[in-house]
Amino acid sequence: DPRIARISNAIRAIPDFPKKGIMFRDITTLLLDPAAFQDSIDLFVARYKDQGIQVVAGIEARGFIFGPPLALALGAKFVPLRKPRKLPGPTVGVDYSLEYGTDRIEMHVGAVQAGERVVIIDDLIATGGTMGAGIALIDQAGGKVVETACLIELTDLKGREKLGNTPLFVLVEYE
Ligand code: IMP
Repeated sequence: DPRIARISNAIRAIPDFPKKGIMFRDITTLLLDPAAFQDSIDLFVARYKDQGIQVVAGIEARGFIFGPPLALALGAKFVPLRKPRKLPGPTVGVDYSLEYGTDRIEMHVGAVQAGERVVIIDDLIATGGTMGAGIALIDQAGGKVVETACLIELTDLKGREKLGNTPLFVLVEYE
């Protein structure tokens, strides 16, 4: 699919960000290319349009860029999965470990109903810790995570293995 090359070419790599030795994959350059940005949304819409998806859950922050256009195209709800203490109402949350320390993601109580069919979306999967926590959070609410979706997979980090039986769909892979 020629759209994949267009998307890949529009993603920028920035060495040594946020610290030395890290090659940061930057999707803001994709957002500057409306045709490539549209291609990325079209590929996700094509994947999920006949899957009875009721909820698109986006992980803060870049899941908030790609999730809403997908949700609107599917006629699904959009639910933000947020960093701690950002959501104003009652929340449920899941803690997960990072290389140093822990983090947490939260969502509003009642945003996902038991039995609803959910796709979780983010820009990138690295170690899989964040997406794994997203799956646990939706599970906790009784939602059914049909699939997880990212633009980018960093394959060497084997994040996919942290997702258990939940499938992962990606557009572009880097080592
Ligand atoms: P993980 O939990 O190690 O899989 O890290 C994934 C999370 O960190 C996602 O929310 C990403 O947005 C963010 N992240 C990690 N590395 C990068 C990168 O190179 N570019 C953009 N986001 C990244």
